[in-house]
Amino acid sequence: FYPDTRSISYTTTARFPPVRLLLPSERKRILVTGGAGFVGSHLVDRLMLLGHDVTVLDNFFTGSKTTISHWIGHPNFELVRHDVVEPYMTECDQIYHLACPASPPHYQYNPVKTVKTSFMGTLNMLGLAKRTKARFLISSTSEVYGDPEVHPQPEDYWGHVNPIGPRACYDEGKRVAETLTYAYRNQDGVDVRVARIFNTYGPRMNPADGRVVSNFIVQALRGEDITVYGDGQQTRSFQYIHDLVDGLILLMNSDETRPVNIGTGEEFTILEFAKLVQELVEKVQREDGIKPVKKSEIIHKDMPVDDPQKRRPDTTRAKEALEWQPRWPVRAGVEEMIRYYAAKIAEGSI
Ligand code: NAD
Ligand code: UDP
Ligand code: UDP
Repeated sequence: FYPDTRSISYTTTARFPPVRLLLPSERKRILVTGGAGFVGSHLVDRLMLLGHDVTVLDNFFTGSKTTISHWIGHPNFELVRHDVVEPYMTECDQIYHLACPASPPHYQYNPVKTVKTSFMGTLNMLGLAKRTKARFLISSTSEVYGDPEVHPQPEDYWGHVNPIGPRACYDEGKRVAETLTYAYRNQDGVDVRVARIFNTYGPRMNPADGRVVSNFIVQALRGEDITVYGDGQQTRSFQYIHDLVDGLILLMNSDETRPVNIGTGEEFTILEFAKLVQELVEKVQREDGIKPVKKSEIIHKDMPVDDPQKRRPDTTRAKEALEWQPRWPVRAGVEEMIRYYAAKIAEGSI
C-alpha cells in the first residue's frame, strides 16, 4: 500500500520552485497569519525557499489564494482558511502575525472588524505562542506614530494619534496590539518581536486597495488621471518588498525584543512621487515597446481626514541591531513594479 516515495517526491516537487533541503533539526514550523496578502505572500516565498514548513492562516478578506497558489500541494506548505478573531490550535516554532487589512479604504470599510482583528486576532496568536513557546513577531506599523511631530521617527517617539478619527481603527488597533504583545512578554515570558513597517510597495499589491504606489502606476499605465490627494506636499518614504522581507526574517531571528522600524530613508512628496511614476512609466513603455494609451494628467482630489503630513523612519536601530539596510533604490523597485502591472494589464487579469 505504500506508494513509491521516490517517484512521489519527484512528481510532487518538480512543478515547484526548488526549496532548500534542511536537516529536521534546522527546519522550523512557521505560522504566517495574513500569508495570502501582499507582504505575507512574499514572506512565505522566502521561508519556503529557505526550506521551512510553512502554514498560512488567512480569511481572504484582502488577500487571495492566487498569491500563494504556486505552493499549494508542496509537502512543506499548508493553507488554512481561518479568521484570526477565532482561536486556533496548532504546534509551531515561530509565528509571523501579519493578518490585518492595511490600506485605508480596506481598514476603514469595517472599522469594528479592523479593531477586532487587531485586538482579538493578536490575543489569540499570543495565546498560541504562549502555549507552544513559539517566538512571536507582529507586523506593526509607522501609523503608531500617527501624524508625527518628530521627524524622522525613532522607535522611542510615542506618537500623535487621533483616537477617534477614521484612521483610529487601524492606528489604535496596532497600538493596542503592541501593548498586548509586551504584556504577554512581561507577564507570561512570551518571546516577542515587533516590526514597525513603513510604506512598502511591490508586485502583488492589490491594485484595487487604494494605496498610492499601486494607484499611480495603474493610472499611468492606463492613461487615466493620476489622483494626488490635497496639494501633494505630504511625504512618504517607500521601501521595496524584498528589503522588508529581509528585515522581518532578520528581526525574527535576532535577539532584539524592542520595536524596530523597517523602512527606507528616501522621502518624497506625493507630488514628486506622481511625477517620478509618470517618468518611469514612459521609460518602461519606451524600453519594452509598450504603446502608451495616452499621457496621464496629474489632478488633485480632496485630502483624506487625518492624513499624516510627513513620514520617514529613523532606522538606526535596524542598522545596529540587525545589520539591516534597504538595498533597493526607489527607481529600481518602481520600474520592476511597473513591468509587473503592465504584464497583468496585457493579460487582462487586472
Ligand atoms: P494585505 O491586505 O495585502 O494583507 C493582509 C492579509 O491579512 C490579507 O491576506 C487578508 O486577507 C488577511 N486578513 C485580514 N484580516 C484577517 C483576519 N481577521 N483573519 C485572517 N486573515 C486576515 O496587507 P499587507 O500590505 O500585506 O499588510 C500585511 C501586514 O503588514 C499588516 O499587518 C499591515 O498592518 C502591516 N503593514 C503593511 C504595510 C505596507 O505598506 N504594506 C505598512 C505597515 C504595516
Ligand atoms: N488561544 C488560541 N490558541 C492556542 C492557545 C490560546 O487561539 O493554542 C487563544 C485562547 O482561546 C484565548 C487567547 O488565545 O482566547 C489567549 O489565551 P491565554 O491562554 O493567554 O488566555 P486564556 O485562555 O486564559 O483567556
Ligand atoms: N494618496 C494620493 N493618491 C492616491 C492614494 C494615496 O495622493 O491615489 C496619498 C495619501 O493621501 C497619502 C499618501 O498618498 O498621503 C500615502 O497613501 P497610502 O494610502 O498609500 O498610505 P498611508 O496613508 O497609509 O501612508
